[in-house]
Amino acid sequence: MNIHEYQAKQLLAQFGVPVPSGNVATTPEEAKAAAEKLLTDGHKRVVMKSQIHAGGRGKGTFKSGLQGGVKVCSSAGEVYERAKAMLGQTLVTKQTGPEGRVVSKLLIEAASTIRKEFYLAVLLDRALSRPVVMASTEGGVDIEEVAAKTPEKIIRETIDPAIGMMGYQARKLAAALGLKGDLINAATKLLLGVYQTWWECDASLVEINPLCLVETADGKEAVLAVDAKIGLDDNALYRHANLQAMRDLGEEAPLEIEASKFNLNYIKLDGNIACLVNGAGLAMATMDIIQHFGGSPANFLDVGGGASKEQVTAAFKIILSDPHVKGILVNIFGGIMDCNVIATGIVAAVRETGLKLPLVVRLEGNNVQAGKTTLAQSGLTIVSGDSMADAAQKVVKAVGK
Ligand code: GDP
Ligand code: MG
Repeated sequence: MNIHEYQAKQLLAQFGVPVPSGNVATTPEEAKAAAEKLLTDGHKRVVMKSQIHAGGRGKGTFKSGLQGGVKVCSSAGEVYERAKAMLGQTLVTKQTGPEGRVVSKLLIEAASTIRKEFYLAVLLDRALSRPVVMASTEGGVDIEEVAAKTPEKIIRETIDPAIGMMGYQARKLAAALGLKGDLINAATKLLLGVYQTWWECDASLVEINPLCLVETADGKEAVLAVDAKIGLDDNALYRHANLQAMRDLGEEAPLEIEASKFNLNYIKLDGNIACLVNGAGLAMATMDIIQHFGGSPANFLDVGGGASKEQVTAAFKIILSDPHVKGILVNIFGGIMDCNVIATGIVAAVRETGLKLPLVVRLEGNNVQAGKTTLAQSGLTIVSGDSMADAAQKVVKAVGK
């Protein structure tokens, strides 16, 4: 699950990471009030930031033609006018895809006077099975580009998860970023706080891009998390009620939300052959074999090891709500799963939805005979596949090019 920048900054602040002061606004009036407050508090300028679950907002363009999802302003009036032009509009960035995202919240913050922009992230290194803290002097730009062109500019510190990030590791990174004197101490505290946020929230990613060296009102220098992105591990969400409350359904694909209500693992894709499979590995293999025989999968769908009849029916309805679907392949290997439960679910779903599209079913494993009998006796037109390859070929043929 992803959360918004303003929520990520709230979490980081709880772990002692310095972030700009600010407030969220959902109307131009709220945006103006938030800006007035910051300006009367003595801040010279404010920055308005579109809150969507995607990066690249600064360089993004609204479908209305307006440039920039991040804008520095110097008066409350300017904030009000700009908020009117941003709220409710669709912002397209490198990360949103061409359809873009509707902006319904703005973060109004004290603008920083930036001297340097750095990159900082904490994530899991799957090859090392350890957390890794990554930093770079090349902040504010795409880190993928830095990784491709100047990989030596990315520095890594691997963390022993049993001990956590050590002070010396944070100081080493701070020094590698070129920080000196008191700033080393400030950056060390910030780095340890960012790591702590990642650890305590069961995050999969905490990314601060840019982490900035800023000039404070009294002309001194400080370090500040100017942008923040946090991705949370869904499997650990059950133990964080406060994080669950941060879910924004407006940012998730409607079919994926519906699927999550039934505990189904569904991801919509661009093809026209829907698949319903038990087990994530088999689901991926099914998508591969469809492609291998020249077809194109419409989705990834794992109904899990012990799906009920209700879940199978819900799964059918979800895959059928995608208008691009021209055929369905059900691929079940019954280990824990009883094939007859799947078969009963399929028959119920086909009747309920009045399915007219070609449906190919390959069943194998636990109670397969009963399952096949249920399908055969249903009187419905269901094509049976003998093997995965046979079933895939049959559905690709039925859908045609
Ligand atoms: P992103 O484009 O979605 O990653 O959004 P960011 O929050 O990273 O903002 C994009 C860029 O806008 C940053 O890299 C900064 O250069 C600039 N920016 C963001 N906030 C401020 C600010 O408070 N002051 C100034 N001067 N620039 C800012
Ligand atoms: Mg950024």
